[in-house]
Amino acid sequence: MFSKILIANRGEIACRVMRTARKLGVHTVAVYSDADAKSLHVEMADEAVHIGPSPVGESYLRGDKIVAAALATGAQAIHPGYGFLSENPDFVDQVVAAGLVFIGPSAASIRAMGLKDAAKRLMEKAGVPVVPGYHGEAQEIVLLASKAREIGYPVLIKARAGGGGKGMRRVEHPDEFSEALSSARREAKAAFGDDRVLVEKYVDKPRHIEVQVFGDNFGNAVHLYERDCSAQRRHQKVIEEAPAPGMTPALRKAMTEAAVKAAKAIDYSGAGTIEFIVDASQGLKADRFWFMEMNTRLQVEHPVTEMVTGTDLVEWQLRVASGEKLPKTQSEITLSGHAFEARIYAEDAAKGFLPATGTLHHLKFPDTAPQEAQMRVETGVRAGDAISPFYDPMIAKLVVHSKDRAMALGALRDALTRTEVAGSTVNTAFLAALAADADFAAGDVDTALIGRHQQALTAIPAPGDETIAAAALAATDAGAPGPAADPWSVLSGYAHFHTLARRIRLRHGEENILARVSVRPDGRFQVALEAPHDAVNTHDLRTMPHAARWPGHVTVFEGAVGYTFTVPDPLARADEAGAAAGSLRAPMPGLVKLVRAAAGDAVIKGQPLLILEAMKMEHTIAAPHDGVIAEIAAEGAQVSDGTVLVRFVEEQDASAAASR
Ligand code: ADP
Ligand code: ADP
Ligand code: MG
Repeated sequence: MFSKILIANRGEIACRVMRTARKLGVHTVAVYSDADAKSLHVEMADEAVHIGPSPVGESYLRGDKIVAAALATGAQAIHPGYGFLSENPDFVDQVVAAGLVFIGPSAASIRAMGLKDAAKRLMEKAGVPVVPGYHGEAQEIVLLASKAREIGYPVLIKARAGGGGKGMRRVEHPDEFSEALSSARREAKAAFGDDRVLVEKYVDKPRHIEVQVFGDNFGNAVHLYERDCSAQRRHQKVIEEAPAPGMTPALRKAMTEAAVKAAKAIDYSGAGTIEFIVDASQGLKADRFWFMEMNTRLQVEHPVTEMVTGTDLVEWQLRVASGEKLPKTQSEITLSGHAFEARIYAEDAAKGFLPATGTLHHLKFPDTAPQEAQMRVETGVRAGDAISPFYDPMIAKLVVHSKDRAMALGALRDALTRTEVAGSTVNTAFLAALAADADFAAGDVDTALIGRHQQALTAIPAPGDETIAAAALAATDAGAPGPAADPWSVLSGYAHFHTLARRIRLRHGEENILARVSVRPDGRFQVALEAPHDAVNTHDLRTMPHAARWPGHVTVFEGAVGYTFTVPDPLARADEAGAAAGSLRAPMPGLVKLVRAAAGDAVIKGQPLLILEAMKMEHTIAAPHDGVIAEIAAEGAQVSDGTVLVRFVEEQDASAAASR
C-alpha cells in the first residue's frame, strides 16, 4: 500500500477519497485553487498545495502543477476523483513519466473509451450491443442530416468528447436538425475543445442502467451489479439507486456479462462504469439494451453500489493501484437490500434547473439515519462556504440503504425533509417531490419521467400564513448580522411589564408582507399579519419555527422546502423595483455568447435575444414580453448575477418611437 497519495480534485469526492486513505493509514495531500483556500478538503488533508487561480484551466486542469505538487510532497500516487483530469490520458502519461502511479486505468484504456464514437466502434467489434446510429468520422452537415433521417427521428446529437450531459441535443424533426447541431457543437467546443458529434437513435422509454466493473493488473475483471440512473434532468442524474427496480435475472445476466466483456476488451484496471441505455417500452427485455459509453473512473453515484455490496470502492482502487489483486472474486460479491443517492445541487428547479451560486449561510444535514436504515452524507462544504460559479454546484449527496426499495425510499424522503440549506437556491424540495412521485415510487422510471412531471415536481406552493408568521417571528432580529435570531432576548426582557410589539416588513417574491410581532406577558408570541391580507389574522406561536436568519433574509424550513423571505433594510432606499421593471437580468454569472438582437429592434415575447454561457452550458435568454430594445449586452461580455442584459424602451417612449 502507498504511504502518501495526492488527490487531484476538490469538493465531496476529495473528502471521500481522504476518508478511505485515512482508514488505510495513507497520508493525503490536497491541491487547491484560490477559491478553495479555506475549503473542507484542504482542512481534511495532511498537507495541501496551492496550484493556482480559481478558474479550472489555471488550477485543477493543470496536470503539470499537480504532478509537481506530488513530487514536491513525496506522494507516490495520484487519485483523480471524477471530472477534471480523471479521464485525461495525457495526464496519465505525465503522471507515469514522473515515476508516479495513477490511481485508475492505463492511458491506453482511457484512450480506447475516451471518445464516444471510437468506443462504440470498439464495442461493436467486441460483440457488445451498441445504440443504433452514426458514429463515423465524417462531419459534413448534409451527411449528418441524411444519417439522422436514415436512423429515424427522434435522434440524439451527442458530442463525441461529451460528458456531464453537455453537448447533447434531442431532435424531434428534420427542420430542427441544423439549429440543434450548431448549438450542440458550440457547447461541445466550449466544454471539451472538440465539436465533433455522433448521431444516435433516441431510444423509446429509455432507462439508464449502468454496471459497475472493476479490474486489476493481473487480468481479472468483475462486476458489482447495476445502478439505475434514469432519474435525470438535462441528461444528468439526480437520484440513483441500486439495484435497478424491476431488474430480471435474464437482463442482469446479459448486461453484467456484456460489461465484463467490455472491460476485458481494453485490459481494464481499476473502477469503471459501463453505461447502457435500455428500451423499457415492453418491460425489461434481455435483448433491448445497448452500450452508450464507458466512464473510466470512479462514478459520482458509486456509494449506492458500496451500500448494496458492502464494499469500499476507493479502498479497492488504492489496493489495485498499489499492485494487489482484486479483494473479491465474482462469486464473493453479493447484493443486499436497496440503496438510493440524491444529489443536492445549488440550482433553481423552477427555472429549468438553472445552476445557482451563493453562500451557504445555513447548512444542516440529518445526523442520524432514519429507523432501520443506514445513511451517508457525502459533502465537501460547511456552513459559511460559497458555491462559486467556477465549479460544479453539487452541495452534497444523501445516501441511504435499507432492506427493500420501499423502506430505502422512505428513508430518503425522511433524510431530505431533515436537510436545511439557506443562502442559495437548492433542489431539496424537488428531490423530495421526486422521491414521493407515484411512478417513481412504483419503480416505473425512465429518463423522461422528470420532464413529464416537471410542473408538479418543481411547483412550490406559496407559503401559508403560518409560514409567513413564522418568518416574521424569526426575522424579528433581522438586519443585525450575527447568530440566528432570538426574539426572546430581543423582546422578552421587557415583557414583564407589558405586551411588547414590533412591526416587521418582509418580502416573498412579489408580495409585500407587514406583520406585527408581539410577546405577551405569559411569554407566548403572537404574530398579526396586517398585509398582504385586508383582514388582520393572528397566529399564536408556542415554539420557535425551524428557520435560519442570514444577511437580509430569513428562511423557514417546512419539510424539504425552504421558504426564503427578504427582510428589507429599513435604511436602504427602495429603488430595486423600478429598475427591474423594464429590464432583463442575468439569472446567473456567465459569458454572453451570442447576441441576436440590437438596440432599436422590436421583439416579440419568447423570441431568443441572446445566449448566456454559464457553468459550461448554454442558456437562451428570451424576451419576456413584446417590446422594443433600448440596450442589449455585448457579445463576449462577462456578466455577474443580476447584471442587466437587456433593457426595453419604456412603453410611452416605444409608442412615441413607433408613431414617428
Ligand atoms: P456521472 O455519470 O458520474 O455523473 P458525469 O459525466 O455526469 O458522470 O460527470 C461526473 C462529474 O464530473 C460531474 O460532477 C460533472 O459535473 C463533472 N464534469 C463532467 N464534465 C466535466 C468537465 N468538462 N469539467 C469539469 N467537470 C466535469
Ligand atoms: P454523458 O457523457 O454526458 O454522460 P451519455 O452518452 O452517457 O453522455 O448520455 C447521457 C444521458 O443521455 C443518458 O444517461 C441518457 O439518459 C440519455 N441518452 C443518451 N443516449 C441516449 C439515446 N440514444 N436514447 C435516449 N436517451 C439517451
Ligand atoms: Mg454518461
